[in-house]
Amino acid sequence: MSRLTDILEFNKDFVEGKQYEQFLTDKFPDKKIVILSCMDTRLFELLPKAMNLKNGDVKMVKSAGAIINHPFGGIMRSIVVAVYELQADEIYIIGHHDCGMAAVDSHSILDKMKARGIDEKTIEMLEYSGVDLHDWLQGFDNVSESVHHSVQMVKNHPLIDPKIPVHGLVIDPTTGALDLVVNGEKEITV
Ligand SMILES: [Zn+2]
Repeated sequence: MSRLTDILEFNKDFVEGKQYEQFLTDKFPDKKIVILSCMDTRLFELLPKAMNLKNGDVKMVKSAGAIINHPFGGIMRSIVVAVYELQADEIYIIGHHDCGMAAVDSHSILDKMKARGIDEKTIEMLEYSGVDLHDWLQGFDNVSESVHHSVQMVKNHPLIDPKIPVHGLVIDPTTGALDLVVNGEKEITV
């Protein structure tokens, strides 16, 4: 049985058995928080549990490494929508130790693309058009610095209300312990 078939069969039983009832809530975050964290598999359940968050409490945005690639890209847009449309009034950027993006090597990713059949000419053409693929795929050396950088990007974003606290934290993907990098409440300049 394929993974897709497996999921669809399970889903049918899930809906028919009304298992969704325990998750019923609405689109507004009860704790008025938006979190940007990493897509790491270990954080999937651990991060909400370690922060006492349940379904309906927060808006959750995820990206590889909790990195905001571009001030006007999809991640930043999600944060802006969470704040202005969905009533989030506090922002948390949460990186984690042992993050895959700390070890990412753009040369190795490009080599793997080529091995899978992506034409070298396509890569050259993108670079010729001004796309810096190495920059685009780049990770970070230090997770605290990366979180700090993302906090500054959000805090100084021209479309973010300066009265909104932007916190920076690093979570341990084994124990769930949180280290505070930036306390956004102390940084607010009104
Ligand atoms: Zn990660």
